[in-house]
Amino acid sequence: MAACDGLVVRVRPRAGRLSQEQAQGLAQLAQRWAHPVLELTNRANLQLRGVDPTHHAHLLGALKDLDLVDADAEREALRNVQVQPFWDAADPTPDLALQLEGLLARDDAPALPAKFGFAVDTGPVPCLREAYADIRLERHADGVLVYPDGALRGVVVPAADAADTALLLARWFLQAGGAPAGRGRMRALLQRIPLPASWQVAPRWQGAQSRPLPGWHQMGHLVGLVFGLLPAVTLSALATVGALRLTPWRCLLVEGDAPLPQLPELITKADDARLRVDACTGVPGCEQAAGPTRELALALAPLVPPGRRLHVSGCTKGCAHPRPAVTVVATRHGFDLIRHGTAAGVPDHTGLDHDTLVHQLQQSFSHAAHL
Ligand code: SF4
Repeated sequence: MAACDGLVVRVRPRAGRLSQEQAQGLAQLAQRWAHPVLELTNRANLQLRGVDPTHHAHLLGALKDLDLVDADAEREALRNVQVQPFWDAADPTPDLALQLEGLLARDDAPALPAKFGFAVDTGPVPCLREAYADIRLERHADGVLVYPDGALRGVVVPAADAADTALLLARWFLQAGGAPAGRGRMRALLQRIPLPASWQVAPRWQGAQSRPLPGWHQMGHLVGLVFGLLPAVTLSALATVGALRLTPWRCLLVEGDAPLPQLPELITKADDARLRVDACTGVPGCEQAAGPTRELALALAPLVPPGRRLHVSGCTKGCAHPRPAVTVVATRHGFDLIRHGTAAGVPDHTGLDHDTLVHQLQQSFSHAAHL
């Protein structure tokens, strides 16, 4: 994939886990052939940016040697499987994820849209309900519940059959016209047509875990990355502690209980204000951006109270946070402010300068606190 600062190479570690050797190898490759800061995306992938086209083949070869990319790039693009990161040795989650990834890599796998994805959320309590996925797999007293995003019911099957069942549901999505021009999402399909009764056998569990925060969790330390940015040297330092599990929350779970390195770019406390802001690449990394975003978001973070989110976007596309939030959009004529909406929403204020923006945000957050 091309970007204005070079090629982007996406790495989807199998079952969402980097071994210590893979993490060290990836850090070395980023330093050698890409921008030395990787990005953890909200789909739990790692991106190498700024790859010189003349080095692309070398990089892919080295990533294959680490078992971090597939031989067939088109098949690999379908391997969109997010995995709940808190699994332990007795948990079927990683095996189920690997099984599903294996089925998606086969020649007879359904030709799904590029963004179509799966969430293997089979821990004791679902934690990936807010993650982008089209088919969800969750633990059930009688096995695994497989259900489509946008529905509240699905089918329960033994864990050994769950991956095949997820693929069956994916085939139904295609047969039902979910991707007429090669694009489409499950939730959008279910807004047009009902889910067949045969897929509505059991309700999903009503409880779910809210977005986990940095700190100690079962199996390791969850550490946040500011805007998902992961310097290669930081990746290398974390890999000396343990294997790494990727999450869609711009956090990594570092396996084991060894102490973490003390690095300012790591968010280790749940009340860190940097967790409450999202910002896209902005200027200078994105051609479409009307201004810098991340510096502004960090400067504004202390204004954002716990439980609220601020999204700073370089344009109306809103890549960093496609969901409603307090949203600031950089424009050629100042900042637009949307009090509750996405970057594409109708602004409540337009063309604000920096000081007026700060004033409006202070009002916005303090007004909401008194509602
Ligand atoms: S939101 Fe706009 S400016 Fe920001 S990364 Fe996406 S396309 Fe670029």
